[in-house]
Amino acid sequence: MIKENYNKILATVPAPARLIAVSKTKPIEDLQEAYEAGARLFGENKALEMRDKHQSLPEDIEWHFIGHLQTNKIKYIASYVSLIHSIDSLNLLQAVDKEAAKHGRVIDCLLQFHIASEETKFGLDMDEARALLGSEDYKALQHVRIVGVMGMATNTDDMELVRREFRTLRQYRDELKEQFFAQNADFKEISMGMSGDYQIALEEGSTLVRVGSSIFGARNYNIPVND
Ligand SMILES: *Cc1c(COP(=O)(O)O)cnc(C)c1O
Repeated sequence: MIKENYNKILATVPAPARLIAVSKTKPIEDLQEAYEAGARLFGENKALEMRDKHQSLPEDIEWHFIGHLQTNKIKYIASYVSLIHSIDSLNLLQAVDKEAAKHGRVIDCLLQFHIASEETKFGLDMDEARALLGSEDYKALQHVRIVGVMGMATNTDDMELVRREFRTLRQYRDELKEQFFAQNADFKEISMGMSGDYQIALEEGSTLVRVGSSIFGARNYNIPVND
C-alpha cells in the first residue's frame, strides 16, 4: 500500500511544492518501498534513527530533520542532512554551524515558528526571529544557511483555525524575506502541512509538505528508539 499511498498523495502536490515522506518509527523496508515508488525526500525526528536509516539506504535520498534537535545529537546528522526544519534558537543554530564546519559543509535550515494555539509546541515568535536574524552572532555564522520557515498547526478539526495559522506562517516568511533576505533568492521555503491538513497548507502557499501516516500508516510509538 505504501507505493499506492505515496503516488496518490504526490499527484495532489503541485510543483514547485515538494512532498517529504515522514518515515519516523517505520522500518527500513517501508522506506525502501517508498523509495521504489520514487520518494527521495524523507523526514525523521530522531538523530540516531536518521543516522541508522541513512546508512542503510541509497545515497541519493535527501534527509530532512523535522524534530526537536538536541545540540549533542547534531553530530549524528551533520555530514549528510539536507535540511533541518527545527531551528528555534541562536544557540542551536551556532551548534549546527560548528558541526557543519567540521565537514566543510553549509547546512540549510528553517526557522521553526510557534503558530499553534497549543502551549506544548516548540518554536520562535516573530520578535525572537528578528532578534536572531539581526544579531552579530548570527551574521558571523559561515556554515548554515536559513532558507525559510517551518510550523505546525493546532491539532484540531477546526480547519479554519488551521488555515489562519498557516496564513500567519506565510506572512512571517514574507515579512522576514523583506526585512532580512530581500537580496537572497534562497530564502523561500514554507514547511507546513501534515497528513490531516497538507491540502490546506498547499492552498496557503506551503512549499514543503511533511506527510507520514497517510503514506506509511499509523505509527506505533511503543517501539523503543535510541534517543
Ligand atoms: C510526525 C510529523 C509529521 C507527519 O505527521 P502525519 O500526521 O503522520 O502526517 C509532520 N511534521 C512533523 C514535525 C512531525 O513530527
